[in-house]
Amino acid sequence: MSAATHLPVAYKCGHTEDRDLSDKPAGERARSARWYGEHLVCSRCFKKQQGTDSGDRAAREAKELAEATEVAERDGLPPALIGTEKQAAWALQVRHRMIRNAYAELVEAGTLDDADFQATVLEPAARIDRARWWIDNRDQPATDLPDLLADPGTIDAGASTENVA
Ligand SMILES: [Zn+2]
Repeated sequence: MSAATHLPVAYKCGHTEDRDLSDKPAGERARSARWYGEHLVCSRCFKKQQGTDSGDRAAREAKELAEATEVAERDGLPPALIGTEKQAAWALQVRHRMIRNAYAELVEAGTLDDADFQATVLEPAARIDRARWWIDNRDQPATDLPDLLADPGTIDAGASTENVA
């Protein structure tokens, strides 16, 4: 007579599934079953989680990128930034967010009018086509954007774009 190798595990998700515990010593199977139940979800819920999470994230990122590209074209900003593919996509979203926040905090708050915004933000921003510049400045306050753009510094043409992200 030998001990059962498959034990029912009551998983966190509330489902119970038999789990093959034949790789555990007979005397530890009950404890393992309890541990799995406390830490894991059943195989069906696990698959579902993986599937929807990655699917949702990819769809959301694609949507954000499409929106950022569309707004960039409308604002006269280069939709393709220079850098690796990953940097370019990231920088496009950083720029999108920074410009949107700057618009909210400067124009909608009454500090600048649309023409000033065009001259101090959109026009100089259109000249900065290095993904790296946007990524480097991503945490700067939105209200500083006109100052940053007025004095953007030397924008290195390539070498320094290698080690980001
Ligand atoms: Zn489940």
